Order: sequence, then structure tokens, then C-alpha cells
Amino acid sequence: MPELPEVEVVKRSLKRGIINLSIKKVIIKTNKLRYILDKNKFRLIKNKKITEIRRRSKYIIIFFSSNLSMLIHLGMTGKFFFRKKNVSLNLSFYHNNQKEKKHDHVIFIFNNNLRLIFNDVRKFGFIKIFQKSNVYESSHIKNIGPEPLSKNFTAKYFKNFIKNKNRSIKDLLMDQKFVAGLGNIYVNEILFASGVNPFKKINKLKNYDIFKILSNTKSILKKSIKLGGSSIRDFINISGSKGNFQVDNFKVYSRSGLHCFRCNDKSVIKRNRIANRSSFYCEKCQK
Ligand SMILES: [Zn+2]
Repeated sequence: MPELPEVEVVKRSLKRGIINLSIKKVIIKTNKLRYILDKNKFRLIKNKKITEIRRRSKYIIIFFSSNLSMLIHLGMTGKFFFRKKNVSLNLSFYHNNQKEKKHDHVIFIFNNNLRLIFNDVRKFGFIKIFQKSNVYESSHIKNIGPEPLSKNFTAKYFKNFIKNKNRSIKDLLMDQKFVAGLGNIYVNEILFASGVNPFKKINKLKNYDIFKILSNTKSILKKSIKLGGSSIRDFINISGSKGNFQVDNFKVYSRSGLHCFRCNDKSVIKRNRIANRSSFYCEKCQK
């Protein structure tokens, strides 16, 4: 499932490709993604220019030259492709430009004939049209916590939030009301980098644990955005797929049974599956 860095990379690619373009036509090929696609509402964005594209948590918001905006969530498998002159370009981290046409659900055609295709195998993503003034008040994003890369995600905020609470640090970091956009992959990576066991109770966290978690959250996300961003190619430079770009950069995620990078050969990474989510960690150096 795409997490904050992946969504940020898609947002940046969209910004590069479609800002200031106008929508000539929207082709909707399914009735329903996660929610019903309201065709009448999509008619309203015809001939409207894209003036701004933002990300909030794992959501992308596209603003039009009218009072409308479009809220997008990629769900589990949602991907955007640009298509021009029979060439497709995947806008995500994953270079694979191959896609099955039967999973193309929404196609936006722009005034320069560029096509933006929303392809989603599992159909768990969604696209909804909102009044600009209502989009941040929608139930999807209204109660989401601060952006981890913003100035609002501080030690003071962290300590205040965890006061009188007793849950695991993993559970806390996954909670979108605490902080926006983190998912299982990045939470595992952040806790490994911080030397904190995912099952540690938050009332046992020391000040330096909190500082390490905060600074690793920011640095790991930034690094990942940079890696993902630089992996995006232009149309003219498309030279096939390169596979999953991220995996080489994981320090702990999906490395169960392999040696710990910090303890070297003295310890192996454990995997513990709780509530359908795998925690990967080193028992020796994550306390
Ligand atoms: Zn270790």
C-alpha cells in the first residue's frame, strides 16, 4: 500500500505533467471504485484548468479553476499513468510501465491530448469531487494528525499526545490521528533506525527515544521521497522497467531471518505478525 513518500512522488509527477492543463474529457469505465463514481460531478470539471496539486497524508488533492477540487486515494493498488502517443509512463516509485487495460478505470484527457489514466487492480482507491471549501472538511482528511515533515510534528506535540495513554509505539505511529501518512513499511524502518522495539509501550519511552523517533521519521521520509523522485523518468527517457526500487533501501522491512545491519552477524531480524500487520525488528538492538 502506498505510504506518504510514494504518494508525494506521485503528486510531484502529476504537478510536473498536468499543472495548468485543462480537462477536455473524462472517461469513466466503471461504476464503482471504493465508492460510486458520480458521473454528473465529473462532468463539472470538463474544460476546467488544473491550478494546484497538493498532498495531505496519503491523499492527493487537485484544485481546478472553479470552485471544485478532486480528492484521490490510491488504496492498495491504485496507480497513475501518463499516456501519450502510445507510450505509458507509470508515475509511482515502481518503474513497471506495463499495465492491464482492463484495470484502467478513469481516464482524463487534457487539452494537449495527454491522457492521465487511473489504473487500480483491487479497486480500493477512490476519486471524489468536492467543493474546494469542503475538501479539507471531508470525513477522509478532517481528523488526520499533523504532517510528519511539518513544523507541527514536534517533541512537545508527541509528549502531549501520549500523556496518560498506554499502547505500543508501533500502534501509535500507525495511528493517522497521531501523525499523517505513515504505514507499516516506514514505521518498521523508523523504529529500527531509532533502536526502539515496536512493542514498547509509549509510557516507557525515554526523551531520547522520542527525539530519535522524530528525527528518523523526518529523515527516512525525506530520503525516500528523494530516491523515489529521482527514479521518475521523463517520457523521452523511458527505457523499460527497473523493478521495485525501494526494496534495496529497506534496513529491516521484509528482512526476517536475515542478519541485522547494526549487530551484523550476531542477530537475525524477527518477524511478528499482529492484527495482520508484520513487525520486523531486531531483539538485540531494538529495546
Ligand atoms: Zn540488531
